[in-house]
Amino acid sequence: MVIQTTKQCACRWVLQHQHKLKQVARSCHLKVKEALGVDDIRDYDSEYSFKYTDLSTTLAEPSQLRMKPDVADLKFGHIFTDHMLKIFYHKALGGWQKPEIIPFENISLHPAAKVLHYAIELFEGMKAYRGVDGRIRVFRPDLNMQRMNLSAKGSGLPTFDGMELIKTINKLLTIDQEWVPHSEASSLYIRPTLIGIDGTLGVSQSESALLYTILCPVGAYFSGGNESVSLLADPSYTRAWPGGCGDRKMGSNYGPTIRVQKQATSQGKQQVLWLYGDDHQLTEVGTMNIFAFYVAENGKKVLATPPLNGLILPGVTRHSILQLAQEWNEFEVVERILTMQDVIKMQKENRLLELFGSGTACIVSPIHSVDYMGTEIPIPTMEHAKPVFRRILDRLTAIQYGHVEHPWAHIIDQE
Ligand SMILES: *Cc1c(COP(=O)(O)O)cnc(C)c1O
Repeated sequence: MVIQTTKQCACRWVLQHQHKLKQVARSCHLKVKEALGVDDIRDYDSEYSFKYTDLSTTLAEPSQLRMKPDVADLKFGHIFTDHMLKIFYHKALGGWQKPEIIPFENISLHPAAKVLHYAIELFEGMKAYRGVDGRIRVFRPDLNMQRMNLSAKGSGLPTFDGMELIKTINKLLTIDQEWVPHSEASSLYIRPTLIGIDGTLGVSQSESALLYTILCPVGAYFSGGNESVSLLADPSYTRAWPGGCGDRKMGSNYGPTIRVQKQATSQGKQQVLWLYGDDHQLTEVGTMNIFAFYVAENGKKVLATPPLNGLILPGVTRHSILQLAQEWNEFEVVERILTMQDVIKMQKENRLLELFGSGTACIVSPIHSVDYMGTEIPIPTMEHAKPVFRRILDRLTAIQYGHVEHPWAHIIDQE
């Protein structure tokens, strides 16, 4: 028999636990890689993040309070709440300054501010929902924070501790809680934004930045609710390319899409289906990820979306849909490249069942046709009794509006 000394025991304990810790770290790493398509799991590298506990709050005077709109005629992003959050970063002053919640106001910038010249900016989009129990829920904000830090790294902007921003935004939501609509057809859109504000014209890392967050009550993203949309798929336009930053929510990715959206509208189509490469791969639809539900050649049903290969924005909704569908375990769930030839072949053989977009603004948006090289391809998304997109929409909204308790819905403390 081996007699163990205390020292050996301690040693073994450390070794065993080291192994466990490594496993935990590895599984955490894999989860982030899966959700956001990145290897680098370290959220932030500023040694000093701002802290929620340093927050100062100045409430609006009663005379500054705005009228709350009628939720029935809410347009996306037209009306903002009474307060906003601002956090400055100045490298020369040691980095992040103290967070402030203040009455909603214009911001004042140096005319040379980098954001105004080189679009040194990034944003996030998430939502707060009024649950059936009256409590306010935010959907998976941790994933938005990780993505925001990835975008910051891609733009030479400072990173921060995402948990601290979540706590600070929750406080803003608590202050403006009456702005979270009492309606399941609407929600409060949260727009965290980070801009480079140095008053110098060099294309370089920002030494001064402003992180702010504004809130706006929103109704249905597309006027007319969750109707299906028609798409223009024109391979002469490209949204993202390998080695670029199409997989980051950087403002510079969006401005150039307006002329293409205009082209689609002038042809009577509602959204752009972004293609990439000589084989015309489907990448995204408008500012949404894309999903196809089809019957494979072997007769099995498959839900597919393009892989996070650098061309795809790692959507929180996209990731949640993949997770839900995997849990249901009723059809195959794959991340694969889909080309226009695949779509045409499946449609001809009556195997293409549904096409839909996914994103925070609309959750899911069914597609009924694609105009490609002068041909209109009808997609039977709306022609099924129980479409998958509807099931996904119902499940996600049940989680968001608190019909079911679910760890993805973060309930905020409204005290
Ligand atoms: C924001 C966005 C999405 C959707 O991401 P969610 O996190 O699901 O809202 C998809 N594509 C683009 C280009 C986007 O900007």
